[in-house]
Amino acid sequence: MSKWVLKGLETGVKTTVYPEKTETASGVTQGRPERLELLKDKRSVVNICPTGAFKINKNIYEIDLTRCIHCLRCLRSPEFPPAGWTGDYEWAFSVSEKTMKGPFSHCLHIRVVDGGACRACLCEISQTGAPYYNIHRLGFFITPTPRAADVLMVAGPVTDHMRFPLKEAYEAMPEPRAVVAVGTCALSGGIFGRSFASSGGVSEILPVDIAIPGCPPPPLAIIHGLLILTGRRPSLSVIDKPESRRKDK
Ligand code: SF4
Ligand code: SF4
Repeated sequence: MSKWVLKGLETGVKTTVYPEKTETASGVTQGRPERLELLKDKRSVVNICPTGAFKINKNIYEIDLTRCIHCLRCLRSPEFPPAGWTGDYEWAFSVSEKTMKGPFSHCLHIRVVDGGACRACLCEISQTGAPYYNIHRLGFFITPTPRAADVLMVAGPVTDHMRFPLKEAYEAMPEPRAVVAVGTCALSGGIFGRSFASSGGVSEILPVDIAIPGCPPPPLAIIHGLLILTGRRPSLSVIDKPESRRKDK
């Protein structure tokens, strides 16, 4: 314990400067593909995307971030000029009109549910509580019980066995409640897709309010999603925003 106190006194505060300032430290994001004009030589990277995340609209290629699995083929393929790539981390966007602004927005409790994730998204979620990201300073807390939760955060495509427990957790939460889907699997099924064993995304089961793309999204993107929900940061711009996948059930 005393070692940590001494280290703190010696090195100062090491927590990220986000959201007060833009975080520029290396390694906080792997970046993401971005929409760009089609390359002049027409040898576009569109066809090498394994998940069909690119869509051509006139002479613009657009990215459906809910499908991107961050395989980096569009960036590193030796055969094609690279796609546009941005080094930001504010990837989250709102799917519904719901926000949790107001006096309690700085005290939000989050119940995390593993809907059949490969574990990487869950690791990134757990990183948000580490000293560097420290979501507690922003008023976000992980809770083990849905009865005390304002937000249901779900990673994974929602496997068949998790459909019922996920619904039960949602129904146990008091109103107002919000659903945050974390990772490409939770948004579209990702690499698991839709099958007898997989739902193809959280919106198949519950109404999603905030979508956080990425495979996996970095901790700052997850924090961005929570800040959108509490009205403290804007959503990803409409230009980059993929089609809404919300379903009210
Ligand atoms: S990183 Fe991979 S999945 Fe994402 S857009 Fe590029 S090729 Fe497609
Ligand atoms: S989105 Fe990617 S990292 Fe997250 S659970 Fe799915 S495969 Fe794993």
